[in-house]
This record gives sequence, structure tokens and C-alpha cells, in this order.
Amino acid sequence: MIAIGVDVGGTSIKGAFVNEKGIILSKFSMKVNKQERAEVEVKKLSDIINDEIKLHGYKEVKGIGLGIPGILDMDKGIVITSPNLPLWDNFDIASFMNKETGLPVLINNDANVAALGEARFGSGKDYKNVIMITLGTGVGGGIIIDNHLYDGNLHQGGELGHMVIEVNGRSCGCGRKGCFEAYASATALVKETKRMMSEHPNSLLHEVAKELGEIDARNAFIAQKKGDLVADTLVNEYVMYLSEGLINFCNIFRPEAFILSGGVANEGENLLSRVREYLKLHTYGMKRSPKVDVVLASLGYDSGKIGAATLVLDN
Ligand SMILES: [Zn+2]
Repeated sequence: MIAIGVDVGGTSIKGAFVNEKGIILSKFSMKVNKQERAEVEVKKLSDIINDEIKLHGYKEVKGIGLGIPGILDMDKGIVITSPNLPLWDNFDIASFMNKETGLPVLINNDANVAALGEARFGSGKDYKNVIMITLGTGVGGGIIIDNHLYDGNLHQGGELGHMVIEVNGRSCGCGRKGCFEAYASATALVKETKRMMSEHPNSLLHEVAKELGEIDARNAFIAQKKGDLVADTLVNEYVMYLSEGLINFCNIFRPEAFILSGGVANEGENLLSRVREYLKLHTYGMKRSPKVDVVLASLGYDSGKIGAATLVLDN
């Protein structure tokens, strides 16, 4: 059995043919023209899929799964609105692709789909209950309970980045204040790094920024390793907010593991060990009940494609 998993992005669409063991058999991709109508772009995608099936002689293709950013009607397979694809509003992508390819089509939120891929075939494969958190431009994620995606009423749940961790705190892109995303995203860490740099002209953060040629999520960690006290404060504060968010999830869901991905997670064990330590000290009942693992995602950019295919394989 083979499923097609497609990761729809604002600049490109990437897909893969995936077998039931979560192994990618072949990949395909196309550039997206944002100024073009959804029908035109999705027709191109459907044609690529039809060609790939012929080219590789795939038999028993079960269907197409799509991971799409934005607000979706997943039951009907409709894109209600996708911020990076302004001409895709109210587009019935499932019916359209079904007509073009003859295959059943399922859609879900891109973050949920990536979490499902990691949970089933990546770092989460040995656990039944995991929460994946992506620390990138924003904070996305997905909740997996008993090996299945949990996304709540009308599939609108799982917006992990918009849990408030500081009432009246930093402004968030969603319009509220104090959201987890405004503290734990790579964007938030970069903003704080810049703020600290302007307040502390002698901090090693300036030197590191020159070496890197830019200010990104790495600056704070590099300067901290060089012994800079300002960077140390920055890292400790970041770890505190990230961990407090994870503790909230932990106290509600008590997953077996958190899977971290995205820009900040590239810091790897240096970050993970600090978070594990914080969780051990502060999570409710942690001293007596089983521990929660904190691990890195392992599928990289393939998690979205494999997860989208998993939607179909599970169905
Ligand atoms: Zn928010």
C-alpha cells in the first residue's frame, strides 16, 4: 500500500510517495505562484501526481494527504483561508484533486500533520502519547494521544502556540498578549537578543553577531558558551518560558515525550538537557510519577510529507 503525502507551503509544494512503513519511495515538488488562482496551481499539482504514478508504475495508491497552513474545513476538504496563499480562500481542494486524479483526498493543518509524521515514524515511534512543538517563526505543534492526532472540535484545537503563559505579557501575532509563541519561538528569541544587545553594548552577543553575519536563534547560545553573562540570562529566561509552556502541556496531557523541532531546536542537547532539568524540578508530581522525555524531531523537512501520507494510511 502506498499513500501520497503533500506539504503545501507558501513558496513551494513538496510531496512524496510513502509506503505503509513510512518510507519515502520517491519525491516530487513544484513552485507555487501566489498570484495564480488555486484551480491553476492545484491542477499542476494533480498533473504531477498523475505523471509520477505512471512514471514509477505505482499500484495500490490509497489516496492523497495534504498538510496545509491556515484555517481548513477538514471534514469537507476545503481551504477556508491560508495566509500565504491569498487566492486559495474557500477552495474545495479535496473535490478538485479527486476529480483530477481519481484518488480520495484528505487535508489537515500543516503543524498537526508534521506531528503525526514524527509521532508515527520519527522520534515518537516508540511512544503512544507525544506532543510535538515546532520552535520556528511561530510556535506550532500537534498532540498525539494513543497514536492518533487529537485536534478537538471541528479540528480547530491544538493551537499550542497561543496558550497564554504571561497574562498581559508580550504582544502576539494573534492579537492577544502573553502567548507561548511570543516567548518560545525563534522570532521571540531573536527579538530578545536584539533588545539585550542594545541594552548591553559590551556583551559578547555583538561579537558573535559579527562572526555569524546576522542575529539569529544561535547568538544567545554561542555567547553563553563563551561565558557571557548577558547571554546566560537570555538563555536561562528562554529556557524558563519554553519549559513553563511544556509543563502546562505536561500537567494536562502527561505525554511520554515532547518532540522539539524548528530553528531553536537545532541547538540540540545543550537546550534539551536544560529543559529536562527544569521539567524535573517543576512539573507537578514529577518526582513520583514516570518521567517525560524531551527529544529532537528526526524526520526534518520530511515530517510534513510523511505525516500527510499517514493521514491516508490511517484512514
Ligand atoms: Zn497568540
